[in-house]
Amino acid sequence: MKPFSRILIANRGEIALRIIRACRELDIETVVVYSEADRGAAYLDLADEKICIGPAPSENSYLDISKIIAAAEISDVEAIHPGYGFLSENPQFAEICQSCRIQFIGPTVENIRQLGNKAAARELALKVGVPVVPGSEGVISDEELAKAVAREIGYPVMIKAVAGGGGRGMRVATDESTLSGAFQAARSEAEIAFKNSDVYIEKYIEKPRHVEIQVMADSYGSVIQLGERDCSLQRRHQKLMEESPSPAVDDDLRLRMGTSAKELTLAAGYRGVGTIEYLLDPDGNYYFIEMNTRIQVEHPVTEMVTGIDLLQEQIRIAAGSPLRYRQEDVRIQGHCIECRINAENPANGFSPSPGLITQMRVPGGMGVRFDSHVYAGYTVPSTYDSLLGKLIVHRETREEAIRTMLGALDELVIEGIHTTIPFYREVLNHFHFVKGNLDTGFIEEYLIDA
Ligand code: ADP
Repeated sequence: MKPFSRILIANRGEIALRIIRACRELDIETVVVYSEADRGAAYLDLADEKICIGPAPSENSYLDISKIIAAAEISDVEAIHPGYGFLSENPQFAEICQSCRIQFIGPTVENIRQLGNKAAARELALKVGVPVVPGSEGVISDEELAKAVAREIGYPVMIKAVAGGGGRGMRVATDESTLSGAFQAARSEAEIAFKNSDVYIEKYIEKPRHVEIQVMADSYGSVIQLGERDCSLQRRHQKLMEESPSPAVDDDLRLRMGTSAKELTLAAGYRGVGTIEYLLDPDGNYYFIEMNTRIQVEHPVTEMVTGIDLLQEQIRIAAGSPLRYRQEDVRIQGHCIECRINAENPANGFSPSPGLITQMRVPGGMGVRFDSHVYAGYTVPSTYDSLLGKLIVHRETREEAIRTMLGALDELVIEGIHTTIPFYREVLNHFHFVKGNLDTGFIEEYLIDA
């Protein structure tokens, strides 16, 4: 039986296309919304229906709840898929969907509310016995308290927004003289970005890797984990490349991190696909930092190594299906690497590079996947994030995956705009990357002008 007959996609670009593809395979009709800036994009024609919801700025289109709900009502859908970003982690939106009897394809309103607050998520992890980064208990309301907490946990510390996301609202203080500036800067950035200036404090972990566990849970108390993704290659706390398995994780560590992730997911009463994010220090200790309650950009990495279609499973779970996989069905096979291809100029501080794509050639061959909505003749709008697509390779070993990725990057040609393609060539040829030696500071440390 198909999970739904018709759903609305409240997103754009590559993830809208990914959802359309999953729905076609599940025989679900799709209605996709678009802003005036996306009018004419080819992926819209692959949906069964498309509805314009307003002008380019997100707040007048993709973030405008009333317009999305109106589009859903008019087109008579049973469910809404929010993708990632935009309204995907907005509890108010999930609640409105619920009251309109439209299924939100994601976790429950309570899940989003609890786990969307990083301080509350930390508290839950502590309660369950999952290791967290040493830090404050709850929100830190004034500078004096911040100083006292920082002195207790020891410098350097990180001030982080409870509502944080996308690497924003986050500042490091190396000693007491920099604490006040960091505290104020994190608060004001958080207020602007999230309309919530609440912050908390964590010990700043030196040279960590970012390793996250994909989980999947149904409404009946079954939870499985699907291994890790290493997302240590970051610029300004934003992921650029992801791989699985992590060169730093062995079977024993994978089992421990995965078991912690399952315990936390279960304790949260979580439903759907989600990600438990950890920092892994150079001594092999892992610390929970947050849970993401949506499908993530890097989900294909897990799909390739497990052979499980996360998008389809997410839709099935939202429709009330029990999990179709048990823990013992999950087998990690081969090695996957994903490069986020952005419309940015790496030779000029990764400055945005929107505009017309004049020529394009897409790579192929065994183990190569390119999830992208762009093509020659497509104009990259300047209004949204710069992701053009995700180049994903899956081979037997890490060495082979690196070689295949280098070949695929050579094949991939996107002309007319700047892209991050040359940057990945540099990374993949770097001695330390090839050895698997990397942490979240790799780019700043080894790649100049990044
Ligand atoms: P966001 O929700 O904005 O993505 P996260 O809490 O997931 O924020 O952190 C993003 C990145 O910031 C991490 O992958 C890591 O590189 C860095 N980071 C976050 N917390 C710490 C910490 N306590 N110590 C060192 N680095 C951190």
